[in-house]
This record gives sequence, C-alpha cells and structure tokens, in this order.
Amino acid sequence: MSTKLKPETLCVQAGWTPGKGEPRVLPIYQSTTFKYDTSEQMARLFDLEDTGYFYTRLQNPTNDAVAAKIAALEGGVGAMLTSSGQAANFYALFNICQTGDHFVCSSAIYGGTFNLFAVTMKKLGIEVTFVNPDASEEEISAAFRPNTKALFGETISNPSLEVLDIEKFARIAHSHGVPLIVDNTFPTPINCRPFEWGADIVVHSTTKYMDGHATSVGGAIVDSGNFDWDAHADKFPGLCTPDESYHGLTYTKAFGKMAYITKATAQLMRDLGSIQSPQNAFLLNLGLETLHLRVPQHCRNAQAVAEYLSKNDKVAWVNYCGLPDNKYHDLAQKYMPGGSCGVVSFGLKGGRDVAIRFMDNLKLAAIVTHVADARTCVLHPASHTHRQLTDEQLLEAGVRPDLIRFSVGIENVDDIIADIAQALNK
Ligand SMILES: *Cc1c(COP(=O)(O)O)cnc(C)c1O
Repeated sequence: MSTKLKPETLCVQAGWTPGKGEPRVLPIYQSTTFKYDTSEQMARLFDLEDTGYFYTRLQNPTNDAVAAKIAALEGGVGAMLTSSGQAANFYALFNICQTGDHFVCSSAIYGGTFNLFAVTMKKLGIEVTFVNPDASEEEISAAFRPNTKALFGETISNPSLEVLDIEKFARIAHSHGVPLIVDNTFPTPINCRPFEWGADIVVHSTTKYMDGHATSVGGAIVDSGNFDWDAHADKFPGLCTPDESYHGLTYTKAFGKMAYITKATAQLMRDLGSIQSPQNAFLLNLGLETLHLRVPQHCRNAQAVAEYLSKNDKVAWVNYCGLPDNKYHDLAQKYMPGGSCGVVSFGLKGGRDVAIRFMDNLKLAAIVTHVADARTCVLHPASHTHRQLTDEQLLEAGVRPDLIRFSVGIENVDDIIADIAQALNK
C-alpha cells in the first residue's frame, strides 16, 4: 500500500490488503508453523534466499501486517514487532552493539529503559553514558568514544515530559558516524515522525497509545533505511561483515536499506525470541485503526487539564509542553505542532504526602502502573515505576520526588476536571 496516503488512512487500511475472497479483517494466524511442498523450498527460507514464513518465532503474517502498518505510519522501510517496549529497546541497541561497545543516551528516559541500559546491558559489557539532552552539541559530543555505536533519546520523555531536539541529536549522532535511535512512544507517529527530522531508527512501546486500550504489552522497532552502515563498516561488523550463523551472508550486501531490520528479525529474534503473540498483534491493530482519532482527543483533554491545574492555587507546578510558558513549548511547536501527548505531570503544594493523599481521593482516575490508554489514570513515579532509583537518579531523569504523572484519557474532559477538583478539595 502506498505510504503517500495520509496517516488517518494508513491507520485504518495499511498493512493488510486482502486478495479475492480473503478475509476483509486481518486474520490472526494462530499457527506456530507453515507448510511447504518440498524440502528444498524450506531450506531456501533457512538460508534467507527466499522470503516466507516457517516458524512464528521468526515471522508471522499477522505480526508482519501490523509491523507494516507501523512502518508506513512512521515512514520507514520496515518494522518488527516485539513482545514489549523493553524488548524493542534492547534489540534496537543489541542489533548494533556487542560486548566492549558503548552508546550515548539522553538522561530523560523511561525508568525501565534506564535500568535496562545502566544495569542489565552493563552486565553484557555494553556501556552507556547519559547526557543532559538540553546540553550543547559540544558537551554531548564529548561523551562519544571510538567504540560508541549509537545515540538514544525519547521524543517526549516518560514521565519527565522533556521534548527532544531531534535535529540536534541527529546532527550529533551523524557527526560521529552512528545512528540516532528515538523512542517515539508518547507522541506516536500521529504527532511526530522522527525520521523526518533525521532519526534513523524509531522504537515504540506499543503498549501505550498504539494499543490504547491497555490490553496488550508490545513493542516495535522501525528502520528508516537511511543510515549508511557500509560508510562506517568498521563500527558495525554485525551488519557489514559475514554472519556465520547464515552461511556467511552479509546483511548490507544482501538486504541494502533493509539490512538493520532484517538482521534484527533473522538473527536477534531467531536467537532471543521475544515475539509478540499474533493475538496481541491483532488487538494492537484494532487500536491502531483509531489512533488518529484517539490521539488528538488525548491531547485536547490534556491541554484543558494542564490549563486547569496551572490556575489552581493548590498546585505547585505543572509540566505540559502545550502550556505557553513551558520550557519545551517551542520545541514541541516545532516537532509536534498538532499536539504532543496526553500525559501531564504536576506537583502539589505540600509535596510527596499531599500527592499520595490526592491520588487516593481520585474516583474516575485510577491508580495503575500504566500510562497512555483510553482511561484516565495516575501514578506517583517516585513510589511506583521509579522506586529503584535514588533521589539523585530521579532528579537526573527529570523526575521530582513530588511528581504526579496524570495520564489524561479520552473521556469527557469536564468529568476528568471535576474529579481532579473534588480530590484537590479534600
Ligand atoms: C512503557 C515504556 C517503555 C517500555 O515499554 P513496555 O511495553 O512496558 O515494555 C519504553 N519506553 C517508553 C517511553 C515507555 O513509556
């Protein structure tokens, strides 16, 4: 399907184009395996000489259709679904980093990603240096080493809601011969398409707005096809030299612009196996069909909630890049003129304890470890998702100890604000 179609059309139609007599709706291929007529046909698949399905750990038609829709929405050449956003982030880096390598990362990132990068990947011998994303190009460049393989950031960070200057990050990454990987979970491609600003790889926790109904944990990696791996072949031997586990095939030679995403599927997914179940991919696809309707409603509601909070004298501070006096308002206007996301963070006068009492008094907004779905929900990161971080790490990640993360849903905003008002008054 043409990727020239508008995002709204891609949300509804991309990925699955049935032929004559085939189901109108994307079927769930609930099958581990796929049949062939000859042994030779199957052998060619294992050598990556033919494309086709043989085992769902590598590829599944339902998953591929949904991945193709996400690739079309982001404007990439290919995508791969993963079992979670965590898996997507891990694979996105592990596809080009090995023991002894290093990457640079914005310090404004999701707590789970922080643990993955700072603790678990370190055990694999892959080191990360965190940088303040608002620092100058010179300061961020100073974190690069000869063994640096990537630069990573979140378009809008969860939960600190800092907006990434994608063009600046792309310039820095490219001046060091490495790709920029951007986690675009919060804006979704409805509000921002990082490839248009120079990012090379996009990752998603599809668990959030893309699914949008809090039914399915999942992730995705999208390849722009733009990064010239062969121009920096010494840095990326995994892509530019023969893969012994595929009879000496070289990904960049065999797959060109699809080298990165093909390796992620054929090698990492084959060996590590964090696939999304076809059932979950089906549910994700249902979510994607209304992404273009839901995201603007989340943003409108969040804008109204942020404006309400900023005028309330019980509120100490509000962070939402849609507010004109927000530090990231100009960057948000540049990269996401149509809206940013539905998540607002704020602190109450009285700090941590008052925050917890406020949350306990909410009726409509539920306390859940989730964000970015249809139902308004609320979380106190310092007590919940970011519990493992020290106060110093919290502040480094832009998470104040009194920060309340308020994920504004798509209910009627008057009801959401009334709920906030009654809880503030208690
Ligand atoms: C939730 C989240 C993740 C992790 O995704 P899971 O699907 O929960 O594994 C990664 N990045 C961001 C920005 C997130 O919000």
